[in-house]
Amino acid sequence: TTFDLKEFTAEIVDEMQGLVKIGQKIHYHHNSPETIVTLDKQLLKNIILNLLSNASKYSSEGKAIFIDTEVAKSVIYLTVKDAGIGIPETDKAHLFTPFFRAQNVTNIQGTGLGLNIVNRYVDIMGGTLTYESELNEGTTFRIIFPNTTA
Ligand code: ATP
Ligand code: MG
Repeated sequence: TTFDLKEFTAEIVDEMQGLVKIGQKIHYHHNSPETIVTLDKQLLKNIILNLLSNASKYSSEGKAIFIDTEVAKSVIYLTVKDAGIGIPETDKAHLFTPFFRAQNVTNIQGTGLGLNIVNRYVDIMGGTLTYESELNEGTTFRIIFPNTTA
């Protein structure tokens, strides 16, 4: 479907804002004049909820979370950034493996399926998912979708 990405994302952010830890303000910015996209809304919502839920879960109380979107000529960008615990170097290669959980999250609840699902949804949508992370500094997930809106 064709819809307004900025409005859609803002609604999801509002929903998530009620579920995160104390003081974890979610800052949303849409960075282009164009806001209309053609994407699978159901899959996109699931992707955003998973990334925001990870950003919250793997960050302390009071840490800001940033989500950015941008509609460019041929692509759509989605970025979710946290100032959380980060991912140990040796674990980075395995994040999309079902049930995989990094060494530094053993005291935090999770099944290790969220990112596997996100990665599959991004794939179905023809996009690419990348991430960068610094241990004890934070993590950023970036998605690029093809923009098929004329
Ligand atoms: P769930 O299935 O409930 O989402 P999960 O959060 O453990 O469980 P994933 O979302 O698939 O599973 O994430 C896999 C692993 O990647 C996590 O267990 C954690 O080690 C690491 N991870 C994911 N997102 C982050 C993040 N934002 N910061 C630090 N580590 C992360
Ligand atoms: Mg998760």
